[in-house]
Amino acid sequence: MLGIFINNEWVGAKSGKTFDTYNPHDGSVIAKVAEGDKADIAAAVAAAKAAFHRNSEWRLLDASARSRLLNKFADLIERDQDYLSSLETYNNGMVCSFSKFMIHGMILPSIRYLASLADKIQGDTIPMDGDVFTYTLKQPVGVCGLILPWNGPMAMFVSKVCTALAAGCTVVVKPAEQTPLTALAMAALLAEAGIPKGVVNVVPGYGETAGAALTLHPDVAKISFTGSVEVGKIIQQAAGANNLKRVTLELGGKSPLVIMDDADLNLAVPLAAQGVFSHQGQVCVAASRLFVQAGIYDKFVQAAAQYAKSRKLGDPYDPTTEQGPQVDEVMLKKVLGYIEQGKKEGAKLMAGGKRVGTTGFYIEPTVFADVKDDMTIAKEEIFGPVQSILKFDTLEEVIDRANNTNFGLAAGICTTNLNNALQFSKHVEAGIVWVNTYLAFGAQAPFGGFKDSGLGRESGLKCVEAYMEVKTVTVALPKKL
Ligand code: NAD
Repeated sequence: MLGIFINNEWVGAKSGKTFDTYNPHDGSVIAKVAEGDKADIAAAVAAAKAAFHRNSEWRLLDASARSRLLNKFADLIERDQDYLSSLETYNNGMVCSFSKFMIHGMILPSIRYLASLADKIQGDTIPMDGDVFTYTLKQPVGVCGLILPWNGPMAMFVSKVCTALAAGCTVVVKPAEQTPLTALAMAALLAEAGIPKGVVNVVPGYGETAGAALTLHPDVAKISFTGSVEVGKIIQQAAGANNLKRVTLELGGKSPLVIMDDADLNLAVPLAAQGVFSHQGQVCVAASRLFVQAGIYDKFVQAAAQYAKSRKLGDPYDPTTEQGPQVDEVMLKKVLGYIEQGKKEGAKLMAGGKRVGTTGFYIEPTVFADVKDDMTIAKEEIFGPVQSILKFDTLEEVIDRANNTNFGLAAGICTTNLNNALQFSKHVEAGIVWVNTYLAFGAQAPFGGFKDSGLGRESGLKCVEAYMEVKTVTVALPKKL
């Protein structure tokens, strides 16, 4: 049985309950995990609160020591990268080439970047009127509840935990019930790196019990959540129920990618496919509404279908595999349901559309053409390998259609015309815009959504500010300095 991590120790759930965690490749049970609920969250929050006391070891650490600790954590991840990437593949189904890339291409650079921010948090001196000296202090907000989704378990853990630690906060992490394993492995590495006890606590369990308890706990000062819009709305309400928690939400999307007549098709066809099929389509910024201009529409649809049919699907441990299984049976059924809905509502199936095999949760890369804006597959987040292609005539028209949604996470355009690119980038309602590229991320760049796709930003130079309070101090002086 794998435990709950509180005060740098492994404990069972107070209820004694466990839940199974699965391998999406064949549906087999990997391990039993302690099932935390309200009582375990209370214990974890108490540990995090004690670790945040003004005289605690953590609070007395120099900021540069927090930075060194995060770098040590990165060193340990680097040491264990083969183990960690295969654990991610085992529990999540992420193809091994991608889980390896996530570690060296995203996770390590992200921790090192966040480590570099820890000792650069500075206040201001302010020229206030009168005989006073005024300055600001930026101080950690307190105990943070970090609630994670299953689609990028390690990357999400690192991004949220390391930002909070760089700011000087303490945390209670609730990993997704589908994928608790890498979060627990990360907790062990943080202890090995020397994190003081109580600073990082990890409580696996279900959303409605453990997650909800975290969002309602009065000693939690901030919630950072990544997941669905539906749960994000519940969390925002819960966060205001017992105290006024600060809230960051990174939610879902239905991101438009626009291919103009003048685009380089050798670039655009694979870019659009990778934009929606990467990680089995289980990416919040997936290019799930593909708008193709009328002049190249037929040619593009043929090429897109061809490309989808050529993708290699199979065992995620095979280094040549491009597409692995969906995360679980629930998602398998949900995605297949959307495919049926697409057919029923009159979209034209150009490739895929079926489950592959009977064990594991595999779905063929699927392409629909002639999709209309009011079809379900054009409106709802599918979170699976389904490319929906829509036709448009003008840039003006496509900007309005792209914006006709409550989502606003990402958007992209492929064009060789600079004016098209700049007009689209300015007017599209999305937190991230990619021009002639897609899925380009970096710890240095802010990440987050407009509208129902989120609240606040992660990553970027200012990301630690979401975990800090600003305190204004004014000192009376006999005479202005
Ligand atoms: P989900 O909303 O079902 O669950 C996310 C987390 O919330 C899980 O840990 C779950 O246990 C917890 N949870 C569920 N109900 C809760 C409640 N009532 N109170 C507190 N916690 C609760 O999402 P998911 O299916 O795990 O993840 C997929 C979603 O995440 C997609 O919509 C995707 O677009 C989104 N996502 C967004 C980003 C981003 O950065 N914007 C990144 C990755 C995933």
